[in-house]
Amino acid sequence: MAAIVYGWGNVLKKKQIMGYQWCPSCGSFKPEYLSKLVFRVHISYIPIFKKTKGYFIACPGCEKGREITKEQFKELKEKFKPMTNSLSKKCFKELTQVCATCTECSETTVQGIFYQMAQKYPISATEELTAEYRQLIIDLISERLERERMMLQQQQMMLQQNQM
Ligand SMILES: [Zn+2]
Repeated sequence: MAAIVYGWGNVLKKKQIMGYQWCPSCGSFKPEYLSKLVFRVHISYIPIFKKTKGYFIACPGCEKGREITKEQFKELKEKFKPMTNSLSKKCFKELTQVCATCTECSETTVQGIFYQMAQKYPISATEELTAEYRQLIIDLISERLERERMMLQQQQMMLQQNQM
């Protein structure tokens, strides 16, 4: 008789992308997923029992996040639904490229990029999406400018050291 293999454990199920944020522990921009923590028991890889243990907004890279209530989960899922996961991913890629050419993070620049993106993606469908994507544009530009500033500083330090 073949041995029966039991197994159990928690899995974090990714559901809906809310947007992208800088994750300090991953050191990069990561999607923020509305997630469900599910406890599963399986026999020979066939699930026989499932129970939702909690709701989270979490990073898929490091699984760090914060817990939310079931009501918040449902509410947020509705509000972010117009941007499906594949649309979110496409839009993020495009935004990264657009923001890479920006030299300043002014209100006009941010507004301009947001408007341009809103022609293609439903990022202005809800207030929450609008806020999320405006902030993402600001973060993408700021992070890039900050990185450039640091590189310049390093170059100057190296130049000074060479002159000494
Ligand atoms: Zn992370």
